[in-house]
Amino acid sequence: MPPAMQDQPQRAPEAGAAFDAIIVGAGFAGMYMLHRLRGLGFTARVYEAGGGVGGTWYWNRYPGARCDVESMQYSFSFSEELDQQWDWSEKYAPQAEILSYANHVADRFDLRRHILFDTRVTAATFDEAAKCWRIETDRGDNVSAKFCIMAVGCLSAANHVPFEGRADFQGPIYHTGEWPHEGVDFTGLRVGVIGTGSSAIQSIPIIAQQASALTVFQRTATYTVPAWNEKLTPEYRNAIKADYPALRAKARARPTGFYFPFNMKPALEATPEQRTRQYEEAWQRGGLPFLGAYGDLLFEKAANDTIAEFARDKIRSIVKDPTTAELLCPHNVFGCKRLCVDTGYFETYNLPHVKLVDVSKTPIERFTAGGIEVNGTEYPLDAIVCATGFAAMTGSFDRIAITGRDGRTLAEKWRAGPRAYLGVATAGFPNLFTITGPGSPSVLASMIQAIEQHVDWMADCMAHMRDIGAATIEPLQADEDDWVEHVNEVSKVSLRSTCNSWYVGANIPGRPRVFMPYIGGFPVYVQKCNEVMTNGFEGFVMEGGDIGNEMPRVRLTERWRVPLDIEVISPAAVAARRVPVV
Ligand code: FAD
Ligand code: NAP
Repeated sequence: MPPAMQDQPQRAPEAGAAFDAIIVGAGFAGMYMLHRLRGLGFTARVYEAGGGVGGTWYWNRYPGARCDVESMQYSFSFSEELDQQWDWSEKYAPQAEILSYANHVADRFDLRRHILFDTRVTAATFDEAAKCWRIETDRGDNVSAKFCIMAVGCLSAANHVPFEGRADFQGPIYHTGEWPHEGVDFTGLRVGVIGTGSSAIQSIPIIAQQASALTVFQRTATYTVPAWNEKLTPEYRNAIKADYPALRAKARARPTGFYFPFNMKPALEATPEQRTRQYEEAWQRGGLPFLGAYGDLLFEKAANDTIAEFARDKIRSIVKDPTTAELLCPHNVFGCKRLCVDTGYFETYNLPHVKLVDVSKTPIERFTAGGIEVNGTEYPLDAIVCATGFAAMTGSFDRIAITGRDGRTLAEKWRAGPRAYLGVATAGFPNLFTITGPGSPSVLASMIQAIEQHVDWMADCMAHMRDIGAATIEPLQADEDDWVEHVNEVSKVSLRSTCNSWYVGANIPGRPRVFMPYIGGFPVYVQKCNEVMTNGFEGFVMEGGDIGNEMPRVRLTERWRVPLDIEVISPAAVAARRVPVV
């Protein structure tokens, strides 16, 4: 049972209350939205399915869970005091510490009194006559609000694969994204892990330390780069804190929304020896910045082949059994699926009690009472860990009945793939905002930065509507269509669109294949959002109010006026040069 369902505190349902905004979700997005709206004098109610704040970091408590964007950057940037006072203990903070941080933010900014936990929003319906959203929850709440803000998370709807015989298995089955709060002790157990994405890669080395036998079921081999995680010294933290705003500003100007040394030069112009040296240096620095070894790695297949081969050689040099090493070698585009960052992942396969089972050609047939069957062989297990990921980007939207104008549902509108203008709003659904929605950089950027930029923009938009007395805002269909096409066109420039990743919904059978995040780069996207605002919310239609005269007052969005520095926006610049930003 998911942890939040265990001990729901009793409370009376809220009936008939009206708010300026309902916010769905109390991860970093919902928390920051609440903070900003309250600061602007709006009334807001947050509903959160979990029993506490933190979203991802509330749910994903599997062993080894931690961020893979460096902690000093994977954090809110809106409060200089918060930045100065919070001390991250490690280069990549563990889940518990990030959750403490979320709780600290909730306390510090007094957020909890407007959040109702253990409450899942089940329906959101736009009332055209009253021009408001009517929201229902699984706790019987029935409230209304002018704005409905979806802060439901891009990676929050766990993918529970309907394996045949699932109910037959006699032991416990866990999903990494819904991990029991009390933790799991695998000591002496025979454990099976399904999946080799980021969650599996973080948890496998730790589970292997406890389990008597570990069997990993791998469908697609994964590229992963060592984290070289370490404790942060006070000197290091102080050096960053001495000019934190400068680091934050540099981060915003990067395509990924976080700062790391980036080499603009093309791999294909270097000699093989130079490339090997460069890759080795980048490998020794570790983490996601490994992809910044050259500027063309995600754009030119021949360049990508060079880094992919380097990574395969690393696997072969670490994993002692040649058959296992070859199975662990990915043959798709390097960085096409989300790159993983690990601590001791490949080394784990050198342990005598760890076995790798290839399920790429012969899929998992069924769960049995005592294990998992593949290709006629039963692997005996006491516990199964499904590290099978998420219905990414749109999964949490699918789980709410969202109805806009003319009774049209979002599920219907997004059946062939999500359609949203700038990823913040979708035509036919007035006053519905989607934080890090499909069509925005979201999961391709450091997500807290992406969240903050969206929230600031949305809050400014709502304040402007109040200034002019506007009742509703929604995208114009034509502008939305242009944006969706632009997102799609830019994605084709990148090799990232070429494999069966969750970016394109291909991790789950039956989902439409659409490249969902915007790959043109964070600064290019931010500039577009800023232009839309300063041009009076170009591409949107507002109803009611004195629309003609008053240009929007830029309040919170001001801090996102980052100069486009061509030197540091390389991949975005490449994409934007070939496919103009609409
Ligand atoms: P979430 O944190 O997912 O929060 C959404 C919340 O909405 C959840 O609490 C959920 O319960 C709630 N919710 C959803 N539907 C409903 C509903 N119908 N009713 C009520 N509540 C609802 N990103 C990075 O940039 N760097 C990283 O290092 C990184 N590491 C990650 C590690 C893991 C294990 C995972 C899964 C993701 C990671 N991410 C990382 C992405 C991460 O999701 C974001 O960084 C960020 O935490 C998202 O915040 P959010 O508030 O948008 O969404
Ligand atoms: P994921 O990357 O989608 O990985 C899921 C894994 O399960 C894949 O290996 C997938 O194989 C496998 N799988 C799914 N269905 C299967 C089936 N029916 N049979 C066999 N295997 C199956 O999910 P995730 O690891 O939870 O990560 C999701 C995202 O969350 C990451 O990409 C990242 O953005 C974020 N995250 C970050 C960190 C971090 O380091 N900070 C940690 C965890 C998660 P295929 O590849 O073949 O589909």
